[in-house]
Amino acid sequence: MPDNRRFLLKRRPDGAPAEQDFDLVTEDTPALNDGEFLIRNHYASLDPAIRGWMDDAESYMPPIPLGAPVRATTIGVVEDSKADGFEKGQWVMGLNGIEEYSVGTLGGFTQPIDPAMVPEVTNFLSLFGAVGMTAYFGLFEVCKPGKGDTVLVSGAAGAVGSIVGQLAKIHGCRTVGIAGGPEKCARLKDRYGFDAVIDYRGKDVDALSKAIGEAAPDGVDVIFENVGGDILDAGLNNINRHARIGLCGLISEYNSDAVGARNIWQLIVHRASITGLLVADYVERFGEGAQAMAPWAADGRIKIDEHIDEGIENAYDAFMRLFSGSNQGKMILKLA
Ligand code: NAP
Repeated sequence: MPDNRRFLLKRRPDGAPAEQDFDLVTEDTPALNDGEFLIRNHYASLDPAIRGWMDDAESYMPPIPLGAPVRATTIGVVEDSKADGFEKGQWVMGLNGIEEYSVGTLGGFTQPIDPAMVPEVTNFLSLFGAVGMTAYFGLFEVCKPGKGDTVLVSGAAGAVGSIVGQLAKIHGCRTVGIAGGPEKCARLKDRYGFDAVIDYRGKDVDALSKAIGEAAPDGVDVIFENVGGDILDAGLNNINRHARIGLCGLISEYNSDAVGARNIWQLIVHRASITGLLVADYVERFGEGAQAMAPWAADGRIKIDEHIDEGIENAYDAFMRLFSGSNQGKMILKLA
């Protein structure tokens, strides 16, 4: 059996994850029991949510156990099988770990995928996976924008945010994107078609509020919130009556104490709502989302950007890009 390099969680991070919180070990690939199959992982999805799973805190998922591989969605190829319906050579996707080989179980979270259905197999981790579905269902089911509405997106150059902006544009909305740095802001306009952009770096709540006010002179009808903290507070200062805020993520708080929303008084003033969203609630409808977005990807109205780093030995650095902002699109680690 081949060796299996695995990226393990050694201790729970205190604030920003340190390299010493993880271990890269080489183990034997396990022998299969009946009902199991061996997956050669080709790609792992690096998601901000993984940071939350490293904490010993109550969430929608149990914490990653210490000594276990860092949990991640992977796509790979069945290398060996003792499970009916999983044949050697078949592509599969599932919630596994950052490791070169995972063992799948019949009835578990790993399912066959058909690479012929997407331009690139990695698109199952971006537009046609949880990221794209978060954008699609989060925008249309939670935020419910009307044509002509102004939609404010934070984390707008990222995997989810860039798709939200493009979907809102297709829907006939005016889009305002917030991202870090001039390069990303230029990309928001040139590549994703945002009508107005804001570089949040170096701006406090007042400066951000002013910048949003200038970018959205008629106010904001929808906020798709990926970041939280000052950015959410500044958005709240600019909402219109009956604005809808879809709370998708709070990445600015994942490595530090929660700041919370300090301007929620504005929800009362404007009879607005804020709703948390979790993509897992829409799993049964992923096919619907994929069908809706496939033509837009095919005709170029949705650009799919993936940032693929290579090698399990680079797992830590690749993961930390999500927090430094040095990822340009959906962060993926190539394992084979
Ligand atoms: P991503 O946006 O591709 O990457 C993370 C980006 O967040 C970075 O590139 C960086 O962009 C920005 N960022 C990091 N730290 C920040 C900080 N302290 N302040 C401001 N911006 C910061 O990641 P993603 O996968 O698309 O995820 C985006 C958000 O969606 C996350 O909050 C994630 O948890 C959430 N999410 C939620 C669900 C759900 O079901 N609720 C599903 C998927 C994702 P800049 O360079 O612009 O700073």
